[in-house]
Amino acid sequence: ALSIGIVGLPNVGKSTLFNALTRQTVLAANYPFATIEPNVGVVNLPDERLDTLAGIFGSQKILPATVSFVDIAGIVKGASEGEGLGNQFLANIRESDAIAQVVRAFDDPDVIHVDGKINPASDMETINTELILADLQTLEKAIPRVEKEVKGKKREAAELEALQAAQTVLERGDTIYSAIDSEKLDMDRLREVSLLTAKPFIYVFNADDGVLGDEAKKQELRDLVAPADAVFLDAKLESDLVELDEEEAREMLEMNGQDESGLDQLARTGFHTLGLQTYLTAGPKEARAWTIRKGDTAPKAAGVIHTDFERGFIKAEIVSFGDLVATGSMSDAKAAGKVRMEGKEYVMQDGDVVEFRFNV
Ligand code: GDP
Repeated sequence: ALSIGIVGLPNVGKSTLFNALTRQTVLAANYPFATIEPNVGVVNLPDERLDTLAGIFGSQKILPATVSFVDIAGIVKGASEGEGLGNQFLANIRESDAIAQVVRAFDDPDVIHVDGKINPASDMETINTELILADLQTLEKAIPRVEKEVKGKKREAAELEALQAAQTVLERGDTIYSAIDSEKLDMDRLREVSLLTAKPFIYVFNADDGVLGDEAKKQELRDLVAPADAVFLDAKLESDLVELDEEEAREMLEMNGQDESGLDQLARTGFHTLGLQTYLTAGPKEARAWTIRKGDTAPKAAGVIHTDFERGFIKAEIVSFGDLVATGSMSDAKAAGKVRMEGKEYVMQDGDVVEFRFNV
């Protein structure tokens, strides 16, 4: 399964946030087959469509898609040099599919900031500099090797050029992810060297009321990290919210002027950043969301349920969620000609409600 690594300077609220994530994991332990590791938090992706489907099909259970977060121990200045937790840290990041960087944007004289002051921009720079330096080291090793192979006609010159373009971006202090579009980086050719800063980034601003209620301030921070996504939450509030039942949590959010919990926002943003989407299945037993990549075909999607479904795929009976709700039931959708039979080439759309036909 895909996972997002949580990084950030010491004292920015990582543990507080991660505790909220894991506490929710325990509450949402709908997945008896999933082994839950201590450094992994699994959060549900909120999806109201599942409630609607459960209503239509009389489903007993609702199983949303999930997003996994991995707690990656603290980074410090000099991590790329192997200082502190350096190398283990980098190995853990390498295994994540995306990076969520927690940034302190809350004021509290009782909580010491490692640099003595609250400064989101400089905090992000500290972390990103370490990741960038690690990537530069990777390229310094790779480039001479590829250069030789290009000279020996074992590789195309374009492969070397892709690495050099990446090096230029890193040398001016930018992450690869932030420059993919602006520099038209050849990501296919960069994949082989698996650069840390080529992973999708999310910035999680651990904010206080002053920031959460200030749209201009939030926009400023969003602009600072664009094109990466930004999430604003109050880690302390989130850790309180997971202790409450649904009703109480809603009231507490309202009191704080928010309509969605930070964890829900984080799950949604993470899902989006990872380039994922869901399709839906429903029956009397359960209404369920399944995670696929954007662009996956029907057999690939079937394989998420069971590998046999992919191998024996015949066709997929599909109705869009909107059409199903508009007609009111599966049989009405069929009568209205809204249920399609799709074959092996079909590219799945978000919110497709599906039943697969397959040989076993
Ligand atoms: P970590 O070192 O990044 O894991 O940070 P911790 O989660 O241990 O938080 C460091 C300190 O900041 C703890 O005393 C937390 O209670 C406090 N803290 C975390 N999040 C918030 C927040 O949103 N607001 C305030 N005021 N304090 C927070």
